[in-house]
Amino acid sequence: MSGTFDRLPRRSLKRSRNDEEESTPQSTSRHSKKPCNHLNMEYPTPGPSEDEDAYNPRPTCKAAESPSGDMQHPRFYFEDGDVTFTTSSYRFKVHTFLLIGNSPFFEDMFEIANPDNSERTDENPVINLDGIETAWNMSVWLAKIYDDQGYFQTLLDDSTLQVVDALYHLGNKYTHPEYCAHAKLLLTSIFPTDLSTWSQSLSSIPLCTAFEAIPLAKHNCPIVLPAAFYVASSASLDDIIQGTTDFSNKRTLTLNPEDQVTVLRGKLRRGQIRRNHTFSVFQDVLQRGESWPDHKCSHKRACSEWLRTVYGRLDGCGFFGNDQDCFEPLNKTLWDYTSKGLCTICRNQVKDGIWVGQQEACAAVPDMFGLHSWLDVKLEQMAVDEFQTE
Ligand SMILES: [Zn+2]
Repeated sequence: MSGTFDRLPRRSLKRSRNDEEESTPQSTSRHSKKPCNHLNMEYPTPGPSEDEDAYNPRPTCKAAESPSGDMQHPRFYFEDGDVTFTTSSYRFKVHTFLLIGNSPFFEDMFEIANPDNSERTDENPVINLDGIETAWNMSVWLAKIYDDQGYFQTLLDDSTLQVVDALYHLGNKYTHPEYCAHAKLLLTSIFPTDLSTWSQSLSSIPLCTAFEAIPLAKHNCPIVLPAAFYVASSASLDDIIQGTTDFSNKRTLTLNPEDQVTVLRGKLRRGQIRRNHTFSVFQDVLQRGESWPDHKCSHKRACSEWLRTVYGRLDGCGFFGNDQDCFEPLNKTLWDYTSKGLCTICRNQVKDGIWVGQQEACAAVPDMFGLHSWLDVKLEQMAVDEFQTE
């Protein structure tokens, strides 16, 4: 009965927060039936190669080399299942009572679908999803429906961002607001959204993760865009223009032209942010000369002169270049060098000045990428959240 799936009405209903809690990975689904565990943990995961998701085309990943034809899905093919879904690469044989109990879409589907019109194999209806839903998306969906945290984790390990993509896709298409909430949780656990965590985790985010997150965040999770753009802006010009390689999945991730321009513009401002915000204490000294600092310093002239010397040397070494991290304070060597020519009072003044400068740099990040301010980004996120829970 190819085509039946997409003819079924999409049920428009609001789901409560209770529903959301019920389906989080930590919770138990309302049915206790679990997939059989005879398979070991090394499941092959289907690749998102047959995707229909036009607004957000996905890159190919290592798992995209799907087995040909009618392979039984290694995790979601149960001998006692009573409905079979086929995709271009895998067959899924699953339990309708679980689908109905965990998805308003399937609830409608099995209420309305007339099984007498279905192609039957072993007396079970076979529903062809080829061209409608990918094996990858079905795997993520069934991992959620079966509350199969082990398999879900396997998919996450294979590609977190592609799981996030699938969750947003399924959440928006099949009225699962809790999937969108889960996807947001995954994204915000990677990309910091507030100043306190900002400087600590950014350097650990791989470039390819940022490149992959940008289109997802633009449509679904604007709150992580400043961090995603910022990480992307640490890429070389070549990577920004030609794409960056994800070695673990053997693929190249490329930004679309609009995002390339945004990232390049942001990159060109990194040095300026560093000079005018993070290390604005040097600018302060340059502008005020010997009237720096305000407080009592018995070696005023020597201290301010030394800072001007340090600034000149740092500048000459590319310290304020666009490849530098805007938030990184002086490392120990540079700090020791800087502080050796300062009195204790001025040393503390510089230290405090850099800390304040880091906060100012964080506040300036959204504007680097045309996102105006954190408040604007947060308001946009609220609007998206509201739309996704409607
Ligand atoms: Zn001093």
